[in-house]
Amino acid sequence: MASAARPSYSLGNATLKVPLALFALNRQRLCERLRKNAAVQAGSAVVMQGGEEMQRYCTDTSIIFRQESFFHWAFGVIESGCYGVIDVDSGRSALFIPRLPPSYATWMGKIHSKEHFKEKYAVDDVHYTDEIASVLTSQNPSVLLTLRGVNTDSGSVCREASFEGISKFSVNNTILHPEIVECRVFKTDMELEVLRYTNRISSEAHREVMKAVKVGMKEYEMESLFDMGGEYYCFASDITCSFPANGKFTDDQRAIYEAVLRSCRTVMSTMKPGVWWPDMHRLADRIHLEELTRLGLLSGSVDAMLQVHLGAVFMPHGLGHFLGLDVHDVGGYPEGVERIDEPGLRSLRTARRLEPGMVLTVEPGIYFIDHLLDQALADPAQACFFNREVLQRFRDFGGVRIEEDVVVTDSGMELLTCVPRTVEEIEACMAGCDKAFGPK
Ligand code: MN
Repeated sequence: MASAARPSYSLGNATLKVPLALFALNRQRLCERLRKNAAVQAGSAVVMQGGEEMQRYCTDTSIIFRQESFFHWAFGVIESGCYGVIDVDSGRSALFIPRLPPSYATWMGKIHSKEHFKEKYAVDDVHYTDEIASVLTSQNPSVLLTLRGVNTDSGSVCREASFEGISKFSVNNTILHPEIVECRVFKTDMELEVLRYTNRISSEAHREVMKAVKVGMKEYEMESLFDMGGEYYCFASDITCSFPANGKFTDDQRAIYEAVLRSCRTVMSTMKPGVWWPDMHRLADRIHLEELTRLGLLSGSVDAMLQVHLGAVFMPHGLGHFLGLDVHDVGGYPEGVERIDEPGLRSLRTARRLEPGMVLTVEPGIYFIDHLLDQALADPAQACFFNREVLQRFRDFGGVRIEEDVVVTDSGMELLTCVPRTVEEIEACMAGCDKAFGPK
C-alpha cells in the first residue's frame, strides 16, 4: 500500500500531508552530528522522553496535550507518555508507547497495536514503555545520551528522560542538548513546506479578521473567526498586523505605520547569509528615529540619538526571533554567542549571524508607552531630542507592530507571510476588496 510505504500526517480534508520522512531525516541529521562529536563514544544511544498529559489543577479534566518540541522534532509522535531511542551508530530508531489498560478502550476507543504505531510513525521498532530497561539492556549501549539544557528565552531547563532502571546505565546529559538545538535552528525543505503552510493559513486568518472587524468588537469575537497564530502538527507561525478598527488610517496612524513598514521592509531586503542580527535591530532603530524626526516628534542628529539608545524607548523588544516548532524557537544563544547588554538589544532572542535555513520573524514596532517616555523625558541625555508638544499628541496612540516570518536563503530571504501590508492594501482589504491577496 502506498500509504504504508510513505506514511504521512494530516488533519484530513484538504489539510497538508506531512511526510513522516521529515522526522527520519531529522534523526539522521542528529546522528551525523553526534558521530562527528569527539565526545560521543561508539555504541551510544539517544534516549528522549515525550510529553505527559496533564490535568487541570486537582480535577480529572485534561489539558489539551501538545507534544514536547524536541521529542516532536525527532519522532513526530502526537500521543503522550512515549519514549524514543535512537542508536547513534546505525541510526536505528525505536518508539516506546504506554501499555494502556483494557478500560481505556471503554472510554477512549480502540487500543492500537505496536504494529500500528510502527507503521504510523515509520520507526524501526516499537515496544512498551515498561520494557525500556530490558530492551536497552539487551542492546547494551555504551552510553545513554539524555537531553538536559537551558532554554535561553525562558531560562527553564528541559526535562531529562528518566525511567525505572536508568541508574544501571552510563548516562551523559550534556552532549545531546547543544547538538539537537543546532539541528533545530536549520530547517529542512520538508520542514519549510510545513512552515509555509502554517503561514499561509494564519495569513488567511488575518485577512478574514481584517475584513470582519468592527469598532467596539471584542478580541474573543475575532478569535472565534480564525486562528491568527496557527500551529499545524506543532509547526508555528507568528504574524502581527496593525490596522485601524474603523478601516481608515488617520494621518498620525499612517505616519507611524509607514515608519514601521519602512523599517520592516528595509531589514528584509538587507537580510542574507553573514548579516549579524543585532545590526538589523540597530537598522530598524535608525529608521524609526529618522521617521520620528521627519514627523517632528524628535529633533537632532539620529546618530546622537542612537548613542543614547533612544530607539529602545519606542521599540523596547527585540527585532525578531527564531521560529519553528516553538514560536520562540531554540538556538538563539549557542556557546560563543553573547547577549548584548544594551537597551533593546538585550531583549533580542538571538544575536547570531544569519545562515541559510534559519527561519526568523521580523517584527519591528513603534509604541508610545507612558512609563518609558516619562523615563526618557527625565533623562537629560534623551530628553533633549523630544519635541514635547508633538509627543503629547501621541500619548494615547498605543503602538504599531508589523511581524513577518521569513526564511534565510542562499542569497537573501523568502517571505512566508502574505497579508495586506501597505496602508492602501489594508484599507482595500477592510473595505472588502482585497482581490490581490489569496484565493478568496
Ligand atoms: Mn514574534
